Amino acid sequence: MLHHDPAAIIQHISIEEGCQELPLVRSIVARLPGRTVRIVPERKAPALASPQSLPLGFNAGKKHLLLCRNRGRFLKPCPATREYHCCGYQVLNVGMNCPMDCVYCILQAYLNNPWLSFFVNTEDLFAELSAALAENPTTFWRIGTGEFTDSMALDRATGLSRMLIEFFRDKQNAVLELKSKAVVLDHLQECDHQGRTIMAWSLNSPPIMAREELRTAPLSARLEAAARCAALGYRLAFHFDPIIYHPGWEEGYRETIDRLFKAVPAERIVWISLGALRFLPPLKAIATARFPSSRFFHEEFVLGLDNKFRYFRSLRTEMYRHLAGLIMERMDPATCLYFCMESSEIWQEVFGFAPEERGGLARMLEKAARAKCGPLP
Ligand code: SF4
Repeated sequence: MLHHDPAAIIQHISIEEGCQELPLVRSIVARLPGRTVRIVPERKAPALASPQSLPLGFNAGKKHLLLCRNRGRFLKPCPATREYHCCGYQVLNVGMNCPMDCVYCILQAYLNNPWLSFFVNTEDLFAELSAALAENPTTFWRIGTGEFTDSMALDRATGLSRMLIEFFRDKQNAVLELKSKAVVLDHLQECDHQGRTIMAWSLNSPPIMAREELRTAPLSARLEAAARCAALGYRLAFHFDPIIYHPGWEEGYRETIDRLFKAVPAERIVWISLGALRFLPPLKAIATARFPSSRFFHEEFVLGLDNKFRYFRSLRTEMYRHLAGLIMERMDPATCLYFCMESSEIWQEVFGFAPEERGGLARMLEKAARAKCGPLP
């Protein structure tokens, strides 16, 4: 495709001993020509010495791709807290870190290894997925890879999207969500997806996307990509997360929402989430050291029940009302508009109901997926 490939930043490839003969590893190396390649002993990715080493360690780590095995579980429930409504999402852990660089990225405070990592033992991943889906046939699974990395940022090199999409195409009790800020569609056009894959993009106000999301695709490119995916029959989702208070926020979010509904057919959108900025306390020092000209961490925040800083409730409600009002004017009635990790009070104030009145948030999202995901008539 024409747009910038985030994987272009990679300069070095390290391959864990024992993985170098895997066909997937060979094809990744072939798709990233001109990089230095070396074999490293098992479990020898460098640790970050301290948060102070982050500016250098994190910047350098994004240029360094480690191809290694995942020795733990691939599938885990999305980390959530009891105090806020969680959507019951399952995270498929395909790698760690991301070649793009958002000022607010939680991974800066979360990872203890600065390298970009991709797990190459995909046969274990698919075996675990098959077993989980077969053991729980009555559970409806919403599974996504975009929690500890961006789902599509390395896809031109790895081709993982194709393997996942074709795995999910005949699963009646699951949908796959691939969430990104990049525009890497290379492997999507030939995939037989059968409507079971939701292509999702995170969206923000244009000034936030321009200033605070480095090396990501601009709004126009994300929306063009979404329109192209809709034309290929994929279902879509959008995440306004993190919503950030900044001068001109009302106009900024209005512009993005206007452009979104002009660009893509509303009936293809399965869900849209809203989540105001929230962050673990150490993130502020790390991010402001790496991005000293960024201002939004200097607002007032309150520590939430999940030990994350958030905006005061009155500001969250004001921002949510604004965005939700604009979205609800145009969205399809079967699309699920929801909050990521918010309290019943916020749901009541903005939507006039709490998720439990509709069977819970997981049930609401399952209903939207069942209504929208499947072969087109
Ligand atoms: S795209 Fe996502 S994972 Fe990558 S830096 Fe931005 S917030 Fe982090």
